[in-house]
Amino acid sequence: MSYVGRFAPSPTGPLHIGSLTTAVASYLHAKQVNGEWLLRIDDVDKPREKAGAADSIRKTLDAFELEWNRDVFYQSSSIEKHHNVAKKLVTFGKAFRCSCTRKQLQKIAKSSVLGTIYTGACRIRKKHDKPTAIRVLVESDELVFIDGLQGKQKINLSHLTGDYIIIRSDKLPSYNLSTVLDDSFQGVTHIVRGVDLLELTSIHIHLQKILGIKIPKYLHLPVIVNANGQKLSKQTGAPPIINKDAKKIASMILSYLGLQAPNELVGSNPSELWSWAIQNWDPKNLANQRKITAIQD
Ligand code: GLU
Repeated sequence: MSYVGRFAPSPTGPLHIGSLTTAVASYLHAKQVNGEWLLRIDDVDKPREKAGAADSIRKTLDAFELEWNRDVFYQSSSIEKHHNVAKKLVTFGKAFRCSCTRKQLQKIAKSSVLGTIYTGACRIRKKHDKPTAIRVLVESDELVFIDGLQGKQKINLSHLTGDYIIIRSDKLPSYNLSTVLDDSFQGVTHIVRGVDLLELTSIHIHLQKILGIKIPKYLHLPVIVNANGQKLSKQTGAPPIINKDAKKIASMILSYLGLQAPNELVGSNPSELWSWAIQNWDPKNLANQRKITAIQD
């Protein structure tokens, strides 16, 4: 079986223990079957990018001896392609231009865990007096997919997002469009990432079906949360990884992934721990979990 996995961080800040744990899990999953593991920097959303973050992410992966295959792929290099696909979807009647503002929608729309559910106001509008976004038409079909860890998922996009945005009104492609197109472009076959993205996966599968793209296999890991149950992120104050503590942090990551390295490996370099972990990694150790509480130092 050919396996192409990837780690696709957004360069909004340095890695923290949550994002690095996702990197390690996706690495172990790929290497267990001698697959490729790619590094993609999801830098489409330039306004959210932090200067130096992409370099810092690479340095941390180096310090943790997580070697990626191929050259690093910077998603900003394919923005034009993303636009061309979105325009084609409009031409073929699968997507439409929308000039509704967030304020207008908030007044009339219902909301879900993913925000406001689009009301369809611009589906038939021909003239727009404001900058337009592009939305994909959503019918009320239920999408069913099997997640490698979270099991069978049934999601009806019309109750979750309605017609969803693929090009924002500031002309940037959405994360959903970019990730689907670049995963396909890079030939990614397996996606291992945090369970916070599980609902969005239904948008990805919807898009893959419309575009005739092969659907990769998905596995959504529990996310690491702080003592208040919030997912670790820059916004919730997760501290950056200290690269010189790589040995200690690598063992901690293995314990988050349900792995207890044998005593003789205590104090080993990360690559030695990973070699052991590649043999022993079993995502089922994390079954039925959506959250892992971070160990306090
Ligand atoms: N770039 C996204 C993030 O850092 C993750 C993308 C993905 O794994 O699909 O949250």
